[in-house]
Amino acid sequence: MAQTLKRLGIMGGTFDPIHYGHLVAAEGARHAFQLEKVIFIPAGRPPHKTGRKISDPHHRWIMTELAVASNPYFDTSSIEVERPGYSYTIDTVREVRNLYPGAEIFFITGADAVLEILNWKNVNELLEMCWFIAATRPGYPLGNLKRRLAGISPEYVKRIIPMEVPALAISSTEIRARVQEGRPIKYLLPEPVEAYILNRGLYK
Ligand code: ATP
Ligand code: MG
Repeated sequence: MAQTLKRLGIMGGTFDPIHYGHLVAAEGARHAFQLEKVIFIPAGRPPHKTGRKISDPHHRWIMTELAVASNPYFDTSSIEVERPGYSYTIDTVREVRNLYPGAEIFFITGADAVLEILNWKNVNELLEMCWFIAATRPGYPLGNLKRRLAGISPEYVKRIIPMEVPALAISSTEIRARVQEGRPIKYLLPEPVEAYILNRGLYK
């Protein structure tokens, strides 16, 4: 059913697993851009992550649900994990637009991911449909981002808004490595997500 919202955030990611870096970036964007809701959308089969075996979408979706439960502004959607084939952001944004007609959409990404945006499918249409909030994460300074965007048309560049978030050097890669090596992951991600990983034996 279509819903009325003025400003809506989308946080996309593989979320294998979701961690405080994602949550801090989304909450920062929610506050800075007065978003009424942020929908976390775990990717089904990300076209760019073909090298490594990605956890079952079901696990990633449940961990995302567990992670957002304590924030009344956060929600999840399984549209990507249910869609067959590769996940393209363009299809997701089109679908979200149909669900929330008239809402201004803010797609929240890390500055590393936004640097790849130029390789994304239908990037021009994407930039027409939504704003991109580029959260800086360690190692991806904003100056770098501006230089990389120098090549693209100014009307599209203005759709990409840099946002400073507290530098959290947390990544899913690091968390997976820690689990594998038996090092602690406590305080890097919400406790229910940690419990889920340990109970299901993920990343062993
Ligand atoms: P991986 O290490 O497997 O690539 P990841 O930690 O980068 O995982 P993703 O699911 O790939 O997590 O990221 C989803 C989105 O969240 C991307 O836009 C990414 O740039 C952003 N992101 C991830 N970690 C952080 C962080 N610590 N701070 C800010 N943004 C982040
Ligand atoms: Mg990543």
